[in-house]
Amino acid sequence: ASGTSSLSSSSCNYNEIEEDDDRIINLKLGDPTVYERYWQEMGEMTTMVIPGWQSLSYFSDNNNNLCWFLEPELGKEIVRVHKVVGNAVTQDRFIVVGTGSTQLYQAALYALSPHDDSGPIDVVSAAPFYSSYPLITDCLKSGLYRWGGDAKTYKGEGPYIELVTSPNNPDGFLRHSVVNRSKGILIHDLAYYWPQYTPITSIADHDVMLFTASKSTGHAGMRIGWGLVKDRETARKMTEYIELNTIGVSKDSQLRAAKVLKVVSDSCGRSGNETKTKSFFEHSYDAMSERWKLLRQAAKNSKRFTVPDFTSQRCNFLGKVFESQPAFAWLKCEEGIIDCEKFLREKKKILTKSGKYFGDDQSYVRISMLDRDSNFNIFLSRISSSFNSTL
Ligand code: PMP
Repeated sequence: ASGTSSLSSSSCNYNEIEEDDDRIINLKLGDPTVYERYWQEMGEMTTMVIPGWQSLSYFSDNNNNLCWFLEPELGKEIVRVHKVVGNAVTQDRFIVVGTGSTQLYQAALYALSPHDDSGPIDVVSAAPFYSSYPLITDCLKSGLYRWGGDAKTYKGEGPYIELVTSPNNPDGFLRHSVVNRSKGILIHDLAYYWPQYTPITSIADHDVMLFTASKSTGHAGMRIGWGLVKDRETARKMTEYIELNTIGVSKDSQLRAAKVLKVVSDSCGRSGNETKTKSFFEHSYDAMSERWKLLRQAAKNSKRFTVPDFTSQRCNFLGKVFESQPAFAWLKCEEGIIDCEKFLREKKKILTKSGKYFGDDQSYVRISMLDRDSNFNIFLSRISSSFNSTL
């Protein structure tokens, strides 16, 4: 990514890409490098110097939080960014910080599973679901919980935990729980409930809500996630799990995350017609909007694959009506291409993740929309050229 290019100009000149550039393009993961350019342009604003004497203690100073390893500065900036964006309730909520929301997911399973002799509780999510859920849930063959599969076909009678990812990974749709039985416990994974991906239509208010820096600001390598938890005992047990698992969460990362979130919230205060500067979310909204426009155009021209359509809604934060423009494209190959992942790999040298990993079929693939411009442009160029041709 170029650090000198203007943030406002589009850099999607995929028509100019050399046809003989045949390198492999890996869009399997949701590595959020699209955000690199914005943070390069912000220059020193998020630079931090941490002296050697800092962060020696396991503990955080002046921390009255139930989550004893949460840096107070991070707690403050989490509350602030949610207030600025209006995407989640923070009042009367406990904040639990985690090493990515991946650790918080496991902490939530630990906290919400019955610890009696009733055996492992089923964990379900409607297909297509985030492919890591079944793997993480079953990797240690816990006696507390086990993967129960697609929530839409779940037949269990007893208590269960349902994961609701909204907007959903992989397909980008907004979701509600589907099992709706009395003994259901819900975990809401709201990693993508930010205005660059979907209109913010209401202030999310659920018992356990998980967020992550990875998809909000793009700092996946910082490994910081947070949970907003209504019930004190659940928050206490989640904290206990993280204490057992890693004795807290990197303070260096927490301080960096606090700084990045502060710059994001400050940018929202400064944006608007008078200053002619874009907030972080306006900038990233524009980047996603441009990419989705180009992808839809490519789908229309090729007629060999489709991407989902979303309904337009008004975003309370950005103050405009738009369709979701998710972090992933859930692409369906049409007309006789049975294994879409294999087809794109062999014919187009594009690596994607097959629908089968998400509890769906092989005619679908998930494609990251968050890669650097250079890779995204090559991807567009290749899928725009005849679907029958090789490179
Ligand atoms: N939940 C969802 C729905 C995700 O897509 C991801 C990242 N791909 C995560 C959780 C994990 O994020 P983190 O980097 O915070 O562990």
